[in-house]
This record gives sequence, structure tokens and C-alpha cells, in this order.
Amino acid sequence: MSIETLEYDMIGVGFGPANLAIAIALEEDSRTRESGLRYCFLDSKPAFEWHGGMLLENSRMQISFLKDLATLRNPASRFTFVNYLHEKQRLLPFINLGTFSPSRIEYNDYLRWAAAHFDEHVHYGEQVIAVEGVEERGEVQRLRVVSRLADGRTRTRLTRNLVVGIGAQAAIPELFAGLQGESRLIHSSQYLERIGQCCPEREGRYRVAVLGSGQSAAEIYSDLAGRYPQAEISLVMRAQAMRPADDSPFVNEIFDPAFTDVVYRQPQPVRRQLIRSLSHTNYSVVNLDLIESIYQDLYQQKVVGSEQRRLLANRQIQAVAASTGGMRLSLRDTQSGGEELCEFDLLVLATGYRRDAHWRLLEGIERHLQEAELERSYRLPTRPGFQPNIFLQGCCEDSHGLSDTLLSVVAVRSQEVADALLEACCQPQVACA
Ligand SMILES: Cc1cc2nc3c(=O)[nH]c(=O)nc-3n(C[C@H](O)[C@H](O)[C@H](O)COP(=O)(O)OP(=O)(O)OC[C@H]3O[C@@H](n4cnc5c(N)ncnc54)[C@H](O)[C@@H]3O)c2cc1C
Repeated sequence: MSIETLEYDMIGVGFGPANLAIAIALEEDSRTRESGLRYCFLDSKPAFEWHGGMLLENSRMQISFLKDLATLRNPASRFTFVNYLHEKQRLLPFINLGTFSPSRIEYNDYLRWAAAHFDEHVHYGEQVIAVEGVEERGEVQRLRVVSRLADGRTRTRLTRNLVVGIGAQAAIPELFAGLQGESRLIHSSQYLERIGQCCPEREGRYRVAVLGSGQSAAEIYSDLAGRYPQAEISLVMRAQAMRPADDSPFVNEIFDPAFTDVVYRQPQPVRRQLIRSLSHTNYSVVNLDLIESIYQDLYQQKVVGSEQRRLLANRQIQAVAASTGGMRLSLRDTQSGGEELCEFDLLVLATGYRRDAHWRLLEGIERHLQEAELERSYRLPTRPGFQPNIFLQGCCEDSHGLSDTLLSVVAVRSQEVADALLEACCQPQVACA
């Protein structure tokens, strides 16, 4: 059967940790085999990689390794981080490190190791560009999923169910929107891919500004300081100060899978308020260790009378312009009211991410969607006459809470989706057995 006519029970769009956890949950569920579930995942990247642009040498996970792809759902799974260590013969040395936070490089390796088990179910290098309903006798029973390959060709597949787990996309502030394609402007998500090209000489006296006050901004600022010892590096932020991420134990309970129910049960205004009140756990915050090391470095500069690295806090960017001399930023000090013009060889936007791309992807079936709330099982409510189930992953913070965009709940959430999916697929009228 050709790809165009083969019908899947489920297609997963994206193969990051969220959909990888679903692949694992399906693999470990006997109903998957019993029903002969036909499924695949499509990912735009050429191979598995987890935030490759930010796999910085000194970066660490901001979550316990026990919140891996499987442990909280099934500690006996072969896909746990502990089993990964065991297979890689690093279990004892890892224990000796005495940490719950592996490096991001190691965690990426773990995820890649787990992803490799599903090679026959994953098609890399395919960016899904459209999802359309296939109408038959006034009903939509199936979806047509259109993907684009690296060489521009497109491919179409049919499926009865869809799981959208496409993560986040770079957020570019309005002021910079007209400068996309400018080689002296990069978003943090592309940092490692582009920094060597932008600043090729280790001893170069580059003038680099990192814009932002969150973890990525602080990590990139520190990385630049180590990478280019002669460079002038400025961390430009609207905030008065870098604030530490609150990962104290009571607060951390908001990332427990059970807290998803607590959030979901609230009426929308209460939920919004709850999420806002806890945002200091995740947004525009930095690990305390990193804050302290940046402070220490800036203090040491004062001692030796250097201004090579600067923290420009309380700065509002008024304008940005690309000139032959560099990228010119017009900055207003929101405390003193003073304005200054600064020129840089490179701007790094550590301005965060947006999570709305799934709506563009689903435009083709928009008229079949109800305006009601996302279901607890992450299923999008659809209108009568529309049979496919569509599940959303990682873009449901508004309804399911702050853990939704993180790794904290992926293991447990994957079972919730797998249950809903397998239930739908194994209904008698759907021939999946
Ligand atoms: C630098 C960084 C560090 C982080 N560290 C942590 C941490 O320590 N702990 C934590 O809990 N969270 C962390 N996060 C949050 C992060 O969201 C999660 O770690 C995790 O990546 C979420 O998994 P996901 O599968 O939802 O999304 P992603 O990991 O973003 O995966 C989405 C996948 O979908 C693919 N894709 C996108 N669009 C399409 C399309 N149209 N067609 C096909 N494929 C597509 C992408 O190529 C990607 O592989 C971090 C985020 C960043 C940016």
C-alpha cells in the first residue's frame, strides 16, 4: 500500500519528548499490539535532537532525572533514565556525581537513545504544513496530513487520529520583526548553530548584546564570556534584576501530575490567576547558582577596573537599526529616563517562545472545531459529524497548568493520551484490529 493510501490510526506531529513519551506509553500498552494500532510520527528535523541550539557545555537540567519519559508512569519501564545509564554503563559514575540534574547534553543523549527505539515509526525531515478533513457523505472520518520534505516535495498521509506535539517557536519581539534574515541577529534557539559563523575568532573583540532576563539569556551571556575572552558582552534587560527560579519543595508540588487536576478544575479566571501567581517558577527566572556566578564575575571586573561585561538593567529598547557599523540599539533607562545609543556586532534575542503554531497547522479543519474548552484528556472538542480525535501536547498551559510546557508531566500525560486514543481506536466501529 502506498503512503498516500495507507491509513493510520494515529499520526503524531512532532517527535520531541512529548510525543516520544506517547510512543513509549503505546509501546508498553498491550492494547497497542492487540489492536494492531498503526501509527507514525513526523518531525521536521533531520534526526532526533532536543533544543540543539542550546546544548551548552555547562547547562544542566532544571528538573529531576526521575521525571524522565517513563518513571512516573512505570518505574519498571526500560525507557527510564536509570536504565539508559545502566545500558551506557554509567550508572555508578552518575550516582557518584550526587545530582538529580544531569547535563542537558546527557539528557539529549538519553532522549536520542529512547527515540532510536522507534525509528521504524518516525519519519524525520518532514515538516507538517497542513491538516485537512476528508469528507465522505457529509462526515469527516479521516484527516489528510500534508508534510513537506527538505527538497520541497510534499507527502500526504491519512489518519483517524492526530496528536500534535510541536513544541514552541521562537518569539521575536515586534521591533525586530523587520530584521529577520539579518545575519547579525539570532534567536537563542539557534545560538549554537550560528554563533561560530557570526563570531568565528576566539580572540575576536566582538561587541555582543544578549537581550532578555531569563535562563537562556543568562546561560548565553555566560557562555559568550567563556567562548570569547576578549569580547564585550552586554546583558540587556527590561527588569531591574535577574530573579531566581523558585524550585523549593512546596512550590515544586505544582509540577506534580496530580496538580493538573487541581488547575483543570478551576474556572478560567481563577486558573489564569493561579498560573500567573506561580509563573516565577518558570518564566523570566534564572537558577540561583548562575545568578551568583554572573554577579561574582561582574564584581571581579570592578576589582580590576574592567567594563568588558555589562549588565544593562531597566533598559527599554526604543528602536533597532542595522547599519554597516553594526546593530544599533536605542535604549531608554526606565529609572533615570536617560537614553543611549549602543552599537553591537551581534544581537542575541533570548526573548522566549510562543506556543500557538498548532492553530495555524489546524486552520484547514478550523470550522469543525468547537469553541469549548480543551478536554482533560487533551482532546480538542469538535463539532458533530467530525470523527477524528485531535490531541494537543505542550500548548495547553491555559487549561492544564504550568507543567504542560515542561517535562514534569510527560510520562503520566502520555498514558492519559494513550488511554483516550486506544479507547477511541478500539471502539467496534473502527476497524483497527
Ligand atoms: C533550552 C531549553 C531548555 C529546557 N530545559 C528544560 C528542563 O530542563 N526541564 C523542563 O521541564 N523543560 C525544559 N524546557 C522546556 C521544553 O519545552 C521541554 O523540555 C520539551 O522540549 C517539551 O517537549 P515537546 O515535545 O513538547 O516540544 P519540543 O521538544 O519542542 O519538540 C517538538 C518537536 O516538534 C517538531 N516540529 C515542530 N513543528 C513541526 C511541524 N510542523 N511538523 C513536524 N515536526 C514539527 C520539532 O522539530 C521538535 O522536534 C526547556 C526548553 C528549552 C528551550
